[in-house]
Amino acid sequence: MTDAVPGPARVLVVEDDRELGPLLTRLFRGAGYEADLAPDGQAGLHLALTRRYDAMILDRGLPAIEGLDLLGRLRRSGVTVPALVLTALGTVADRVAGLDGGAEDYLVKPFEVDELLARVRVLLRRRGTAGERLAVGDAEFDLISRTVTGPDGSVVALSGRESDLLRLLARNPSRAYTREQIVAQVFPDATTVTLVDTYVHYLRRKLGAAAISTVRGVGYRLGRP
Ligand code: CA
Repeated sequence: MTDAVPGPARVLVVEDDRELGPLLTRLFRGAGYEADLAPDGQAGLHLALTRRYDAMILDRGLPAIEGLDLLGRLRRSGVTVPALVLTALGTVADRVAGLDGGAEDYLVKPFEVDELLARVRVLLRRRGTAGERLAVGDAEFDLISRTVTGPDGSVVALSGRESDLLRLLARNPSRAYTREQIVAQVFPDATTVTLVDTYVHYLRRKLGAAAISTVRGVGYRLGRP
């Protein structure tokens, strides 16, 4: 897990082409992302199930597990990370198959790297507002609906700012954030760091005192001390 605040976006590239795969990972790293390369569908499946990513680039023609099959397995496993499918197949039927298979976007080879980067930026923007669930203790936090569903099925609705604060903490649950870091990430318009204390108070009132712990001399982090 990265230690940055909140860390560069992480991209998984699943591409078996010996030149294109490393080229893409270099491209993403050069653009400021963290990038992992899986050279076949099996490795891609393993990485996507065991690491956290913000976007996936999947080649369709892959050894071991074909790209759309891989995507289907990931979606059935609850992996909602947005995916862009790369393919040499450019017919309408192939595009429809890709989008029906759970891909958010589709790019036909050969493509311009600038277009790939632009489309990944769109995926990442969408990712910020849609389609993600995070664990908060035994509860589940839905970033679309801004609700936290407890293990007993109870549902708590959060305000936009409460949701933004909880998202930061829940994305890096082992990490403590200073109030200054939280302000920079969540309340960039705030004039005082005490706003953080206010929203921590609101979240504790809604989710229980144990939802966020105070780390003495540092700030706050998710969960019990
Ligand atoms: Ca291929």
